[in-house]
Amino acid sequence: MTAAKPGKRKGSNASITTPSPPNNKKSARKSAQQTSLGSFFRPKNADADGAVEFKPCLTPFSLIEWREFESTWIGTFKKPEPSTKFAAFDLDKTLIEVRGHWKFPKDANDWRFFHPQVPQVLQRMYNQGYKIVIISNQAGLRPAKGSTELTKTAKEFRRKIDNIAKQFDFPFTILAATGRNYMRKPSPGMWFMAEMDNGGVEVDRKASFFVGDAAGRPAGWKQGALEDFSDSDLAFALNAGVPFYTPEEIFNEDICSKEQPLPLAAPNVWLIDRFHSKALAIDHDGHTKLLKSIEELAGLAQSQGKGMLVVLVGPPASGKSTFANTHLSKLGFERANMDTLKTRKKCMDAVKVALESSKLVVVDNTNPDIASRSSFLHIASKAGVSCVAVVFENSTRDLTTHNNLFRSQLRQARYMAGPMESKKLHLIPSIWESVPAVAFNTYFKRFVAPTEEEGFAKVFRHVFVPVFCPPTDEALWHQYY
Ligand SMILES: [Mg+2]
Repeated sequence: MTAAKPGKRKGSNASITTPSPPNNKKSARKSAQQTSLGSFFRPKNADADGAVEFKPCLTPFSLIEWREFESTWIGTFKKPEPSTKFAAFDLDKTLIEVRGHWKFPKDANDWRFFHPQVPQVLQRMYNQGYKIVIISNQAGLRPAKGSTELTKTAKEFRRKIDNIAKQFDFPFTILAATGRNYMRKPSPGMWFMAEMDNGGVEVDRKASFFVGDAAGRPAGWKQGALEDFSDSDLAFALNAGVPFYTPEEIFNEDICSKEQPLPLAAPNVWLIDRFHSKALAIDHDGHTKLLKSIEELAGLAQSQGKGMLVVLVGPPASGKSTFANTHLSKLGFERANMDTLKTRKKCMDAVKVALESSKLVVVDNTNPDIASRSSFLHIASKAGVSCVAVVFENSTRDLTTHNNLFRSQLRQARYMAGPMESKKLHLIPSIWESVPAVAFNTYFKRFVAPTEEEGFAKVFRHVFVPVFCPPTDEALWHQYY
Protein backbone atom coordinates (compact mmCIF):
# COMPACT_ATOMS: atom_id res chain seq x y z
CA MET A 1 0.00 0.00 0.00
CA THR A 2 1.04 3.54 0.54
CA ALA A 3 4.71 4.06 1.15
CA ALA A 4 5.15 7.44 2.72
CA LYS A 5 7.61 8.98 0.35
CA PRO A 6 7.16 11.71 -2.17
CA GLY A 7 7.40 10.64 -5.74
CA LYS A 8 4.86 10.44 -8.52
CA ARG A 9 2.23 13.06 -9.03
CA LYS A 10 -1.27 12.22 -8.00
CA GLY A 11 -3.98 11.63 -10.57
CA SER A 12 -6.24 14.48 -11.54
CA ASN A 13 -9.23 13.31 -9.45
CA ALA A 14 -10.58 16.29 -7.62
CA SER A 15 -10.91 15.79 -3.89
CA ILE A 16 -13.44 16.98 -1.38
CA THR A 17 -12.15 19.82 0.75
CA THR A 18 -11.88 18.56 4.28
CA PRO A 19 -10.58 19.83 7.61
CA SER A 20 -6.82 19.89 7.56
CA PRO A 21 -4.40 19.07 10.31
CA PRO A 22 -2.55 21.82 12.10
CA ASN A 23 0.32 23.23 10.11
CA ASN A 24 2.80 23.74 12.88
CA LYS A 25 3.50 23.05 16.51
CA LYS A 26 1.93 26.30 17.62
CA SER A 27 -1.44 25.53 16.12
CA ALA A 28 -1.16 21.89 17.21
CA ARG A 29 -0.81 23.09 20.77
CA LYS A 30 -3.80 25.38 20.41
CA SER A 31 -5.99 22.70 18.90
CA ALA A 32 -5.11 20.19 21.60
CA GLN A 33 -6.04 22.56 24.35
CA GLN A 34 -9.28 23.60 22.73
CA THR A 35 -10.71 20.11 22.69
CA SER A 36 -11.40 17.76 25.55
CA LEU A 37 -8.21 16.02 24.52
CA GLY A 38 -6.41 18.86 26.22
CA SER A 39 -6.42 17.33 29.68
CA PHE A 40 -5.33 13.93 28.40
CA PHE A 41 -2.73 15.51 26.21
CA ARG A 42 -1.28 17.66 28.94
CA PRO A 43 1.98 16.23 30.17
CA LYS A 44 2.95 16.25 33.83
CA ASN A 45 5.19 19.29 33.42
CA ALA A 46 2.33 21.54 32.35
CA ASP A 47 2.02 24.63 34.50
CA ALA A 48 -1.12 25.68 36.37
CA ASP A 49 -2.84 27.51 33.49
CA GLY A 50 -2.28 24.56 31.21
CA ALA A 51 0.46 26.06 29.03
CA VAL A 52 2.57 23.22 27.74
CA GLU A 53 6.25 23.69 27.35
CA PHE A 54 7.42 21.83 24.25
CA LYS A 55 11.08 21.14 24.12
CA PRO A 56 12.66 19.91 20.94
CA CYS A 57 13.80 16.34 21.41
CA LEU A 58 14.92 13.47 19.21
CA THR A 59 12.01 11.23 20.16
CA PRO A 60 8.94 13.43 19.88
CA PHE A 61 6.26 13.16 22.54
CA SER A 62 3.54 10.89 21.24
CA LEU A 63 -0.16 10.78 22.02
CA ILE A 64 -0.18 7.19 20.83
CA GLU A 65 1.22 4.32 22.83
CA TRP A 66 3.07 2.12 20.34
CA ARG A 67 3.99 -1.57 20.63
CA GLU A 68 5.44 -3.87 18.00
CA PHE A 69 4.85 -7.58 17.35
CA GLU A 70 6.36 -9.43 14.37
CA SER A 71 6.94 -6.12 12.52
CA THR A 72 3.33 -5.00 13.04
CA TRP A 73 2.79 -1.90 15.16
CA ILE A 74 -0.16 -1.56 17.47
CA GLY A 75 -0.85 1.99 18.56
CA THR A 76 -3.51 2.93 21.08
CA PHE A 77 -5.00 6.34 21.74
CA LYS A 78 -6.79 7.10 25.03
CA LYS A 79 -6.65 3.45 26.19
CA PRO A 80 -9.54 1.88 24.19
CA GLU A 81 -11.95 -0.30 26.19
CA PRO A 82 -12.63 -3.86 24.97
CA SER A 83 -15.80 -4.30 22.93
CA THR A 84 -17.73 -7.17 21.37
CA LYS A 85 -17.89 -5.30 18.04
CA PHE A 86 -15.28 -3.51 15.95
CA ALA A 87 -15.82 -0.68 13.49
CA ALA A 88 -12.60 -1.18 11.54
CA PHE A 89 -11.17 1.05 8.82
CA ASP A 90 -8.34 1.07 6.38
CA LEU A 91 -6.35 4.34 6.69
CA ASP A 92 -5.21 5.73 3.32
CA LYS A 93 -7.98 6.78 0.91
CA THR A 94 -10.52 5.58 3.49
CA LEU A 95 -10.11 7.82 6.55
CA ILE A 96 -7.50 10.21 5.14
CA GLU A 97 -5.89 11.17 1.86
CA VAL A 98 -2.84 13.13 0.82
CA ARG A 99 -3.48 16.87 0.94
CA GLY A 100 -0.67 18.04 -1.33
CA HIS A 101 0.23 17.32 -4.92
CA TRP A 102 2.18 14.13 -4.36
CA LYS A 103 0.96 10.57 -4.53
CA PHE A 104 2.57 9.80 -1.17
CA PRO A 105 2.55 12.14 1.85
CA LYS A 106 5.66 14.31 2.15
CA ASP A 107 5.42 14.76 5.92
CA ALA A 108 3.23 14.38 9.02
CA ASN A 109 1.01 17.31 8.00
CA ASP A 110 0.40 16.25 4.41
CA TRP A 111 -3.06 14.77 4.90
CA ARG A 112 -6.73 15.64 5.23
CA PHE A 113 -9.82 13.62 6.02
CA PHE A 114 -11.09 11.60 3.07
CA HIS A 115 -14.55 13.00 3.80
CA PRO A 116 -15.50 15.93 6.06
CA GLN A 117 -17.79 13.62 8.08
CA VAL A 118 -15.03 11.17 9.12
CA PRO A 119 -14.65 12.41 12.75
CA GLN A 120 -18.42 12.65 13.28
CA VAL A 121 -19.23 9.23 11.77
CA LEU A 122 -16.52 7.54 13.82
CA GLN A 123 -17.65 9.36 16.97
CA ARG A 124 -21.20 8.12 16.40
CA MET A 125 -19.98 4.55 15.95
CA TYR A 126 -17.96 4.83 19.13
CA ASN A 127 -21.05 6.12 20.95
CA GLN A 128 -22.95 3.05 19.62
CA GLY A 129 -20.47 0.78 21.39
CA TYR A 130 -18.10 -0.05 18.55
CA LYS A 131 -14.38 -0.14 19.22
CA ILE A 132 -12.69 1.99 16.55
CA VAL A 133 -9.84 0.06 14.91
CA ILE A 134 -7.63 1.27 12.04
CA ILE A 135 -5.93 -1.44 9.98
CA SER A 136 -3.28 -0.35 7.48
CA ASN A 137 -0.57 -1.95 5.31
CA GLN A 138 2.61 0.11 5.68
CA ALA A 139 5.42 -1.93 4.14
CA GLY A 140 7.16 1.35 3.25
CA LEU A 141 7.76 1.99 6.95
CA ARG A 142 9.87 -1.07 7.69
CA PRO A 143 13.35 -0.32 9.03
CA ALA A 144 16.38 -0.44 6.76
CA LYS A 145 17.88 -3.92 6.39
CA GLY A 146 19.81 -4.96 9.47
CA SER A 147 18.44 -2.07 11.55
CA THR A 148 15.69 -1.75 14.14
CA GLU A 149 15.70 2.07 14.07
CA LEU A 150 12.59 3.90 12.88
CA THR A 151 13.24 5.53 9.53
CA LYS A 152 12.52 9.22 8.98
CA THR A 153 9.39 8.22 7.03
CA ALA A 154 8.26 6.00 9.91
CA LYS A 155 8.69 8.84 12.41
CA GLU A 156 6.67 11.15 10.14
CA PHE A 157 3.96 8.49 9.95
CA ARG A 158 3.77 8.26 13.74
CA ARG A 159 3.62 12.05 13.99
CA LYS A 160 0.82 12.00 11.42
CA ILE A 161 -1.18 9.55 13.57
CA ASP A 162 -0.66 11.96 16.50
CA ASN A 163 -2.06 14.76 14.35
CA ILE A 164 -5.06 12.64 13.35
CA ALA A 165 -5.67 11.72 17.00
CA LYS A 166 -5.84 15.41 17.87
CA GLN A 167 -8.96 15.62 15.69
CA PHE A 168 -10.67 12.72 17.49
CA ASP A 169 -12.41 12.78 20.85
CA PHE A 170 -12.70 9.01 21.20
CA PRO A 171 -10.18 6.22 21.84
CA PHE A 172 -8.96 4.11 18.95
CA THR A 173 -6.48 1.37 18.10
CA ILE A 174 -4.32 1.45 14.99
CA LEU A 175 -2.48 -1.53 13.50
CA ALA A 176 0.16 -0.98 10.82
CA ALA A 177 1.80 -3.98 9.12
CA THR A 178 5.31 -3.02 8.05
CA GLY A 179 6.30 -6.58 7.09
CA ARG A 180 5.27 -8.94 4.34
CA ASN A 181 3.68 -11.71 6.34
CA TYR A 182 0.29 -12.94 7.62
CA MET A 183 -0.32 -9.47 9.10
CA ARG A 184 -0.26 -7.82 5.68
CA LYS A 185 -3.67 -7.47 4.04
CA PRO A 186 -5.28 -9.39 2.39
CA SER A 187 -4.05 -11.99 4.94
CA PRO A 188 -6.27 -11.50 8.00
CA GLY A 189 -3.54 -11.44 10.70
CA MET A 190 -4.16 -7.83 11.79
CA TRP A 191 -7.83 -8.57 12.45
CA PHE A 192 -6.83 -11.45 14.74
CA MET A 193 -4.19 -9.26 16.42
CA ALA A 194 -6.87 -6.63 17.13
CA GLU A 195 -9.03 -9.37 18.69
CA MET A 196 -6.08 -10.59 20.76
CA ASP A 197 -5.64 -7.03 22.05
CA ASN A 198 -9.25 -6.78 23.25
CA GLY A 199 -8.85 -7.59 26.95
CA GLY A 200 -10.02 -11.20 26.52
CA VAL A 201 -13.46 -10.10 25.26
CA GLU A 202 -14.71 -12.17 22.33
CA VAL A 203 -15.53 -10.21 19.17
CA ASP A 204 -18.76 -10.81 17.26
CA ARG A 205 -17.45 -10.69 13.71
CA LYS A 206 -20.88 -10.59 12.10
CA ALA A 207 -21.76 -7.53 14.19
CA SER A 208 -18.45 -5.88 13.27
CA PHE A 209 -17.34 -4.54 9.89
CA PHE A 210 -14.37 -3.37 7.86
CA VAL A 211 -14.25 -0.38 5.52
CA GLY A 212 -11.62 0.02 2.80
CA ASP A 213 -11.05 1.55 -0.61
CA ALA A 214 -9.15 -1.41 -2.11
CA ALA A 215 -12.38 -3.10 -3.16
CA GLY A 216 -11.53 -4.32 -6.65
CA ARG A 217 -13.98 -1.89 -8.27
CA PRO A 218 -13.58 -1.60 -12.05
CA ALA A 219 -12.90 1.72 -13.85
CA GLY A 220 -16.02 3.85 -13.98
CA TRP A 221 -17.60 2.44 -10.80
CA LYS A 222 -18.61 6.04 -10.31
CA GLN A 223 -18.39 8.73 -12.96
CA GLY A 224 -14.77 9.36 -13.92
CA ALA A 225 -13.38 6.91 -11.35
CA LEU A 226 -10.27 4.87 -12.05
CA GLU A 227 -10.28 1.18 -11.18
CA ASP A 228 -9.27 0.33 -7.62
CA PHE A 229 -5.54 -0.37 -7.38
CA SER A 230 -6.27 -3.60 -5.53
CA ASP A 231 -8.97 -5.71 -3.90
CA SER A 232 -6.89 -6.36 -0.79
CA ASP A 233 -9.29 -4.65 1.65
CA LEU A 234 -12.24 -6.66 0.36
CA ALA A 235 -10.24 -9.92 0.39
CA PHE A 236 -9.07 -9.11 3.94
CA ALA A 237 -12.66 -8.72 5.14
CA LEU A 238 -13.68 -11.97 3.44
CA ASN A 239 -10.71 -13.75 5.03
CA ALA A 240 -11.60 -12.41 8.48
CA GLY A 241 -15.29 -13.23 7.96
CA VAL A 242 -16.55 -9.68 8.58
CA PRO A 243 -18.98 -7.54 6.56
CA PHE A 244 -17.26 -5.14 4.16
CA TYR A 245 -18.10 -1.62 3.03
CA THR A 246 -16.46 1.01 0.87
CA PRO A 247 -15.69 4.48 2.28
CA GLU A 248 -18.31 5.95 -0.07
CA GLU A 249 -21.05 3.76 1.42
CA ILE A 250 -20.08 4.75 4.95
CA PHE A 251 -19.27 8.44 4.52
CA ASN A 252 -21.17 9.64 1.42
CA GLU A 253 -24.28 7.49 1.62
CA ASP A 254 -24.07 7.33 5.42
CA ILE A 255 -25.69 3.91 5.50
CA CYS A 256 -24.84 3.51 9.18
CA SER A 257 -27.15 6.22 10.44
CA LYS A 258 -30.03 5.08 8.24
CA GLU A 259 -30.22 1.47 9.27
CA GLN A 260 -29.75 -0.43 12.49
CA PRO A 261 -28.11 -2.85 12.59
CA LEU A 262 -25.72 -2.14 9.73
CA PRO A 263 -26.87 -4.09 6.64
CA LEU A 264 -24.56 -6.63 5.05
CA ALA A 265 -23.01 -5.41 1.84
CA ALA A 266 -24.68 -6.98 -1.19
CA PRO A 267 -22.68 -9.86 -2.72
CA ASN A 268 -22.57 -8.01 -6.06
CA VAL A 269 -20.05 -5.56 -4.64
CA TRP A 270 -17.70 -8.46 -3.94
CA LEU A 271 -15.60 -8.04 -7.04
CA ILE A 272 -12.78 -10.27 -5.93
CA ASP A 273 -10.21 -10.61 -8.67
CA ARG A 274 -7.46 -12.84 -7.38
CA PHE A 275 -6.80 -16.56 -7.26
CA HIS A 276 -9.32 -18.36 -5.15
CA SER A 277 -8.68 -21.96 -4.29
CA LYS A 278 -12.38 -22.82 -3.94
CA ALA A 279 -12.88 -22.13 -7.64
CA LEU A 280 -10.25 -24.73 -8.55
CA ALA A 281 -11.62 -28.05 -9.79
CA ILE A 282 -9.64 -30.74 -7.98
CA ASP A 283 -9.53 -34.31 -9.27
CA HIS A 284 -8.91 -36.15 -6.01
CA ASP A 285 -8.23 -39.41 -7.84
CA GLY A 286 -5.87 -37.62 -10.22
CA HIS A 287 -2.75 -39.22 -8.81
CA THR A 288 -3.96 -42.80 -8.86
CA LYS A 289 -3.72 -43.44 -12.63
CA LEU A 290 -0.42 -41.60 -12.91
CA LEU A 291 1.16 -43.60 -10.07
CA LYS A 292 -0.12 -46.87 -11.51
CA SER A 293 1.64 -46.16 -14.82
CA ILE A 294 4.89 -45.14 -13.11
CA GLU A 295 4.73 -48.22 -10.85
CA GLU A 296 4.32 -50.51 -13.88
CA LEU A 297 7.32 -48.97 -15.67
CA ALA A 298 9.46 -49.06 -12.51
CA GLY A 299 8.47 -52.70 -11.87
CA LEU A 300 9.40 -53.65 -15.43
CA ALA A 301 12.81 -51.90 -15.15
CA GLN A 302 13.60 -53.57 -11.84
CA SER A 303 12.59 -57.01 -13.13
CA GLN A 304 15.27 -56.52 -15.81
CA GLY A 305 17.81 -55.53 -13.12
CA LYS A 306 17.71 -51.90 -14.20
CA GLY A 307 17.03 -48.54 -12.61
CA MET A 308 14.73 -45.81 -13.89
CA LEU A 309 14.74 -42.02 -13.91
CA VAL A 310 11.77 -39.71 -13.39
CA VAL A 311 12.34 -36.02 -14.18
CA LEU A 312 9.79 -33.67 -12.58
CA VAL A 313 8.94 -30.48 -14.47
CA GLY A 314 7.07 -27.80 -12.50
CA PRO A 315 7.30 -24.31 -10.98
CA PRO A 316 8.22 -23.71 -7.34
CA ALA A 317 5.39 -24.48 -4.87
CA SER A 318 3.58 -26.78 -7.32
CA GLY A 319 3.87 -29.83 -5.06
CA LYS A 320 6.87 -31.56 -6.66
CA SER A 321 8.59 -32.46 -3.38
CA THR A 322 5.35 -33.56 -1.76
CA PHE A 323 4.62 -35.78 -4.77
CA ALA A 324 8.13 -37.26 -4.66
CA ASN A 325 8.20 -37.73 -0.89
CA THR A 326 4.70 -39.07 -0.36
CA HIS A 327 4.03 -41.05 -3.54
CA LEU A 328 7.22 -41.89 -5.42
CA SER A 329 9.15 -42.79 -2.26
CA LYS A 330 6.53 -45.48 -1.58
CA LEU A 331 7.38 -47.00 -4.97
CA GLY A 332 11.05 -47.11 -3.97
CA PHE A 333 12.27 -43.91 -5.68
CA GLU A 334 15.21 -42.00 -4.23
CA ARG A 335 14.97 -38.21 -4.53
CA ALA A 336 17.72 -36.02 -5.97
CA ASN A 337 17.22 -32.30 -5.43
CA MET A 338 19.50 -29.39 -6.24
CA ASP A 339 18.45 -27.37 -3.16
CA THR A 340 19.68 -30.15 -0.86
CA LEU A 341 22.74 -31.11 -2.91
CA LYS A 342 23.62 -27.42 -3.47
CA THR A 343 25.09 -27.67 -7.00
CA ARG A 344 23.88 -29.02 -10.32
CA LYS A 345 27.10 -31.04 -10.64
CA LYS A 346 26.51 -32.80 -7.29
CA CYS A 347 22.90 -33.48 -8.26
CA MET A 348 23.97 -35.02 -11.59
CA ASP A 349 26.68 -37.12 -9.88
CA ALA A 350 24.16 -38.44 -7.34
CA VAL A 351 21.75 -39.41 -10.14
CA LYS A 352 24.56 -41.12 -12.08
CA VAL A 353 25.77 -43.20 -9.11
CA ALA A 354 22.22 -44.27 -8.18
CA LEU A 355 21.28 -45.25 -11.74
CA GLU A 356 24.47 -47.26 -12.12
CA SER A 357 23.42 -49.22 -9.03
CA SER A 358 20.05 -49.96 -10.74
CA LYS A 359 18.11 -47.69 -8.40
CA LEU A 360 14.89 -45.80 -9.06
CA VAL A 361 15.57 -42.06 -9.01
CA VAL A 362 13.42 -38.92 -9.18
CA VAL A 363 14.94 -35.54 -10.04
CA ASP A 364 13.01 -32.97 -8.01
CA ASN A 365 14.04 -29.69 -9.65
CA THR A 366 11.97 -27.21 -11.70
CA ASN A 367 13.59 -28.38 -15.01
CA PRO A 368 11.67 -25.84 -17.11
CA ASP A 369 13.38 -26.17 -20.51
CA ILE A 370 15.08 -28.63 -22.85
CA ALA A 371 18.59 -27.55 -21.82
CA SER A 372 17.94 -28.15 -18.11
CA ARG A 373 16.55 -31.64 -18.83
CA SER A 374 19.02 -32.82 -21.46
CA SER A 375 21.85 -33.57 -19.02
CA PHE A 376 19.62 -35.91 -17.02
CA LEU A 377 18.39 -37.59 -20.22
CA HIS A 378 22.04 -38.03 -21.18
CA ILE A 379 22.94 -39.68 -17.85
CA ALA A 380 19.96 -42.06 -18.15
CA SER A 381 20.87 -42.94 -21.72
CA LYS A 382 24.51 -43.66 -20.76
CA ALA A 383 23.33 -45.87 -17.88
CA GLY A 384 20.97 -47.67 -20.30
CA VAL A 385 17.85 -46.92 -18.27
CA SER A 386 14.58 -45.35 -19.35
CA CYS A 387 13.70 -41.81 -18.41
CA VAL A 388 10.19 -40.40 -18.06
CA ALA A 389 9.00 -36.85 -17.39
CA VAL A 390 6.16 -35.81 -15.11
CA VAL A 391 4.97 -32.31 -15.98
CA PHE A 392 2.99 -30.27 -13.44
CA GLU A 393 1.21 -28.41 -16.21
CA ASN A 394 -1.95 -27.34 -14.38
CA SER A 395 0.19 -25.60 -11.76
CA THR A 396 -0.41 -22.09 -13.04
CA ARG A 397 1.38 -18.95 -11.94
CA ASP A 398 -1.66 -17.89 -9.87
CA LEU A 399 -1.95 -21.25 -8.12
CA THR A 400 1.75 -21.56 -7.29
CA THR A 401 2.04 -17.94 -6.14
CA HIS A 402 -0.90 -18.65 -3.82
CA ASN A 403 0.77 -21.85 -2.58
CA ASN A 404 4.04 -20.03 -2.01
CA LEU A 405 2.43 -17.35 0.18
CA PHE A 406 0.26 -19.93 1.96
CA ARG A 407 3.32 -22.05 2.73
CA SER A 408 5.46 -19.20 4.03
CA GLN A 409 2.66 -17.78 6.21
CA LEU A 410 1.36 -21.14 7.41
CA ARG A 411 3.07 -21.09 10.81
CA GLN A 412 1.52 -17.69 11.61
CA ALA A 413 -1.84 -18.64 10.09
CA ARG A 414 -2.05 -21.79 12.25
CA TYR A 415 -1.19 -19.79 15.36
CA MET A 416 -3.74 -17.07 14.63
CA ALA A 417 -6.46 -19.65 13.89
CA GLY A 418 -5.86 -21.27 17.28
CA PRO A 419 -8.07 -20.81 20.38
CA MET A 420 -8.05 -17.26 21.75
CA GLU A 421 -7.05 -18.19 25.31
CA SER A 422 -3.79 -19.81 24.17
CA LYS A 423 -2.63 -16.90 21.99
CA LYS A 424 -0.30 -14.09 23.03
CA LEU A 425 0.76 -11.17 20.83
CA HIS A 426 4.40 -11.51 21.84
CA LEU A 427 4.42 -15.23 20.97
CA ILE A 428 3.32 -14.89 17.32
CA PRO A 429 5.80 -17.02 15.37
CA SER A 430 7.84 -15.73 12.46
CA ILE A 431 7.13 -16.73 8.85
CA TRP A 432 8.91 -19.37 6.81
CA GLU A 433 11.01 -18.18 3.93
CA SER A 434 9.13 -17.84 0.66
CA VAL A 435 10.39 -18.41 -2.88
CA PRO A 436 11.18 -14.99 -4.44
CA ALA A 437 9.07 -13.82 -7.39
CA VAL A 438 12.13 -13.98 -9.66
CA ALA A 439 12.14 -17.79 -9.41
CA PHE A 440 8.58 -17.86 -10.78
CA ASN A 441 9.44 -15.32 -13.49
CA THR A 442 12.39 -17.42 -14.61
CA TYR A 443 10.40 -20.65 -14.66
CA PHE A 444 7.45 -19.35 -16.65
CA LYS A 445 9.71 -17.44 -19.04
CA ARG A 446 11.83 -20.51 -19.78
CA PHE A 447 9.09 -23.14 -19.69
CA VAL A 448 8.91 -25.49 -22.66
CA ALA A 449 6.67 -28.52 -22.18
CA PRO A 450 8.66 -31.80 -22.24
CA THR A 451 8.03 -34.14 -25.20
CA GLU A 452 8.92 -37.69 -26.18
CA GLU A 453 10.99 -36.29 -29.12
CA GLU A 454 13.31 -34.83 -26.50
CA GLY A 455 14.22 -38.38 -25.45
CA PHE A 456 11.66 -39.21 -22.77
CA ALA A 457 10.19 -42.71 -22.95
CA LYS A 458 6.92 -41.19 -21.77
CA VAL A 459 5.61 -37.81 -20.62
CA PHE A 460 2.99 -37.94 -17.87
CA ARG A 461 0.66 -35.07 -16.93
CA HIS A 462 0.52 -34.43 -13.22
CA VAL A 463 -2.76 -33.28 -11.64
CA PHE A 464 -2.58 -30.85 -8.71
CA VAL A 465 -4.09 -32.41 -5.59
CA PRO A 466 -3.52 -30.52 -2.33
CA VAL A 467 -2.86 -32.65 0.76
CA PHE A 468 -3.39 -31.13 4.20
CA CYS A 469 -1.72 -32.27 7.37
CA PRO A 470 -3.25 -31.44 9.79
CA PRO A 471 -6.66 -31.27 7.98
CA THR A 472 -7.35 -27.86 9.57
CA ASP A 473 -4.77 -26.38 7.17
CA GLU A 474 -7.32 -26.74 4.37
CA ALA A 475 -9.37 -23.77 5.63
CA LEU A 476 -6.18 -21.69 5.73
CA TRP A 477 -5.35 -22.66 2.14
CA HIS A 478 -8.81 -21.44 1.09
CA GLN A 479 -7.99 -17.90 2.25
CA TYR A 480 -6.93 -15.14 -0.13
CA TYR A 481 -3.20 -14.42 -0.05
MG1 LIG B 1 -6.49 2.38 1.30
